[in-house]
Amino acid sequence: MIYHSTRNKNIVVQSSEAIIKGISDDGGLFVPEVIPSIDDINILKDMDYKDLAYEIMGRFLTDFDSEVLKRCIDNAYDDKFLANDIASLVEVDGLFFLELYHGPTLAFKDMALSILPYLLKESMKIQGIKEDVVILTATSGDTGKAALEGFANVDRTKIIVFYPKDGVSEIQEKQMITQEGDNTFVVGIKGNFDDAQNGVKRIFNDDELIGQLKRKNYVLSSANSINIGRLIPQMVYYFHGYLELLRRGKIKTDEKINIVVPTGNFGNILAAYYSKLMGLPVKKLVCASNENKILTDFINTGVYDKRRDLILTSSPSMDILVSSNLERLLYHLSGEDDSFIENKMRELSQNGYYEISNFETNDFYGGYSNEDEVNESINKLFVNYNYLMDTHTAVAYNVYDKYKIKTQDNSKSIISSSFICYRSRY
Ligand SMILES: *Cc1c(COP(=O)(O)O)cnc(C)c1O
Repeated sequence: MIYHSTRNKNIVVQSSEAIIKGISDDGGLFVPEVIPSIDDINILKDMDYKDLAYEIMGRFLTDFDSEVLKRCIDNAYDDKFLANDIASLVEVDGLFFLELYHGPTLAFKDMALSILPYLLKESMKIQGIKEDVVILTATSGDTGKAALEGFANVDRTKIIVFYPKDGVSEIQEKQMITQEGDNTFVVGIKGNFDDAQNGVKRIFNDDELIGQLKRKNYVLSSANSINIGRLIPQMVYYFHGYLELLRRGKIKTDEKINIVVPTGNFGNILAAYYSKLMGLPVKKLVCASNENKILTDFINTGVYDKRRDLILTSSPSMDILVSSNLERLLYHLSGEDDSFIENKMRELSQNGYYEISNFETNDFYGGYSNEDEVNESINKLFVNYNYLMDTHTAVAYNVYDKYKIKTQDNSKSIISSSFICYRSRY
């Protein structure tokens, strides 16, 4: 399996190189040349989470030795997850909550960031990297803590997390600034998440700085969701959720389901889209936004316009205006047209917007919810079913409610439940 840059198909790397680099030198994101397909979902039916992870990830990480990959998976998905099956599927109100928050930092970011450090260490071996790696990460809250936790005291790595000083919740900030480990660093910046993300991208494109670091024996890498080392592990839980429905007799083989995702940087929902491309029977991918509804607008109009103020909401991990991973979707939808992507991304950074004429997708539905709707949804589910959602999950729940009313689609649906609520069952 090889990977190209979304902005230049002539750039060709293996997965280990893509994982170390995080982002391509031309600013593009690495994408697999082909999406491997799983023709018969039944062959996965009896697999536990680790076996499934090996089956899915092995198809993307072909330069990893199979024993090595198995060891990475074993180390990542162990008892630091409080759910026996790593991601629990819980039925409430006819809807299936895929609880992705049973890892050490209580956010779904653990699903990928618990394995990324192992993948990175092995990638350094495969690529014969002699330098130490410095991980730079911008966070809207949860990535920061999960990445710090994952990389703490991993030798030959250092990690620096940049977060918007006034843009994360109190608990997220406390989680980050109390991090232990000799190699972990946290910086609160003036500005919002997009400023943090832009700053990190600028560092990656600063040849002079990279040269200086290299002379001091460091190379840069990223733990953001632009790294394929995060994207690939995230596909696993969508298969796991589907298979769980199958095993419980809730669906028949090949029956299509909807997947509802509270979306920020478009990483989690892109993993669901890739799962669909691999052959997971998915009808609609419901892309749920909070009041920063730039993705809702884009999906419905084809215009991506970031010339608006970022609103700070009660779901801070979704307070984002530039959803980086959307670039990968556009690459696939455009028939892998790298110069088209290069142009659109230049328009976005120069003009603050781009338009895709005749934009159409049957795969996605886009919707958003405001703060009142989030609060009402949390209240409704708690009062009626004694199930407590966090604010991010509630955004998704509410958008799905609207989707159902609008389309009358009664397919079984999985909601990607992304963060623990402080008063949950623990
Ligand atoms: C990161 C995060 C999201 C958004 O996921 P993306 O992959 O950035 O779209 C949603 N909810 C929570 C709790 C998160 O931490």
